[in-house]
Amino acid sequence: MPTYDLVVIGSGPGGYVCAIKAAQLGLKVAVIEKNPTFGGTCLNVGCIPSKALLHTSEMFEAAGRDFPGFGIKVGKPELDLPAMMKHKDQVVDANVSGVAFLFKKNKIDSFRGTGSIAAPGSVRVAHEDGSSETVEGKAIVIATGSDSAPLRGIEVDEKRVVTSTGALALAAVPKRLLVVGAGIIGLELGSVWRRLGSEVTVVEFLDRILPGTDGEVARLAQRLLARQGVQFRLASKVTGIDDKGKSLRVAVEPAAGGAAEMLETDIVLVAVGRRPYTTGLGLAEAGVALDERGRVKVDAQFQTGVAGIHAIGDAIAGPMLAHKAEDEGIAVAEILAGQAGHVNYDVIPSVIYTHPEIASVGKSEEDLKAAGIGYRVGKFPFSANGRARAMAEKDGFVKILADAATDRVLGAHIVGPFAGEMIAECAVLMEFAGAAEDLGRICHAHPTLSEAVKEAALAAWTKPIHV
Ligand SMILES: Cc1cc2nc3c(=O)[nH]c(=O)nc-3n(C[C@H](O)[C@H](O)[C@H](O)COP(=O)(O)OP(=O)(O)OC[C@H]3O[C@@H](n4cnc5c(N)ncnc54)[C@H](O)[C@@H]3O)c2cc1C
Repeated sequence: MPTYDLVVIGSGPGGYVCAIKAAQLGLKVAVIEKNPTFGGTCLNVGCIPSKALLHTSEMFEAAGRDFPGFGIKVGKPELDLPAMMKHKDQVVDANVSGVAFLFKKNKIDSFRGTGSIAAPGSVRVAHEDGSSETVEGKAIVIATGSDSAPLRGIEVDEKRVVTSTGALALAAVPKRLLVVGAGIIGLELGSVWRRLGSEVTVVEFLDRILPGTDGEVARLAQRLLARQGVQFRLASKVTGIDDKGKSLRVAVEPAAGGAAEMLETDIVLVAVGRRPYTTGLGLAEAGVALDERGRVKVDAQFQTGVAGIHAIGDAIAGPMLAHKAEDEGIAVAEILAGQAGHVNYDVIPSVIYTHPEIASVGKSEEDLKAAGIGYRVGKFPFSANGRARAMAEKDGFVKILADAATDRVLGAHIVGPFAGEMIAECAVLMEFAGAAEDLGRICHAHPTLSEAVKEAALAAWTKPIHV
């Protein structure tokens, strides 16, 4: 058995990107993965399948809602759910086999089985058939990701009471869907099934949706989703589910306590967050410490307290996002290759793929107020953008937050069509410490949606032209 420079445990976006970058930098790399396919949560049961269903369900809805007004007569669209699921599965297959191809191309060895740390530099791989082998490496990177957080008193069966994994593979459109948790995953998957015909109710413990998102953005998102038919029960908690009857009876209480109301539904989606997954890794035995939320503790070099053992992605602190995991994977590979790897946590975009999309990068108004930083707000509505009007996508705005003293852009928030694409421009600007004036002076093609970004920057710096 060769000794590797690097052994990566887990092949999600953190692990596989780390492995590829390390191999590109000349390290000899092994990856251990317990699932039959590579790609982790993101490619198998997360980002990719959810975006496939979000896209196709949006097309389905647009065909019925928008086509007649555009002068396209196609009759009432009919849903072929198995075909929609087949498309999703094909997209997943293409992506996971893409990772297998990249491993081969970069001469990365892979081991199927559950990895556990036997000692620094040594990982035991337990195979399904009961056999095991040991893989030796100078460095180990833990990239074991996360799984769905449970809700106390609620049993998930992935049939009627599901996590996101079950919600991505329902065999039929439920008449009623109750989503517990108004975070990104709950709202995205709630949107999918609402578009396909479900009556969707979202129960959220807090008195707002999308915790952590800029408050004004979250309020607009709630209004738009409510207009689409999603019902919200805020400041409420689910305390139990009676699954004896044909319908599920869900006990919903005020968050502050009080009498429970019973809501009937067909499917419950538990989307109350995710928790780091480190089960069976042997971390305690290896002396690797976890924080109070079960995340692997690392320093700025992604090194745990044990020399040679690093950790990245959802298994450590920070936003649970695929691109954050990827960037950490690259940084740790660079560090192991003797370079200066680094992640700028101030500029990590976040996208919610509802319709319209919601994207942000940097600080919210609430963050800036809490930090006592003076700021100017520049806003521009898509209703005043020619391209958005042509697309009948007039909802939403771009909001740029600039430092009152220096004009440096500290945050950008977009609710609108293709917000997830447009936010990249703001991230580039912020990475180079750009000002609202810089963004406002950059020539933007006309007619494009991104002209709204320029106009919002103009509004923060001086005055917009088109409102
Ligand atoms: C429904 C859903 C939608 C999402 N949408 C988005 C999105 O649009 N954008 C976004 O940025 N993020 C999204 N996420 C979050 C994203 O999937 C995660 O942030 C990302 O996958 C984390 O990457 P990771 O490499 O840290 O871990 P993971 O992707 O979780 O990969 C960990 C891998 O490690 C393996 N593993 C675990 N333990 C062991 C072991 N002991 N031995 C061997 N292998 C092991 C697992 O099998 C898994 O393959 C979504 C998540 C969900 C659930």
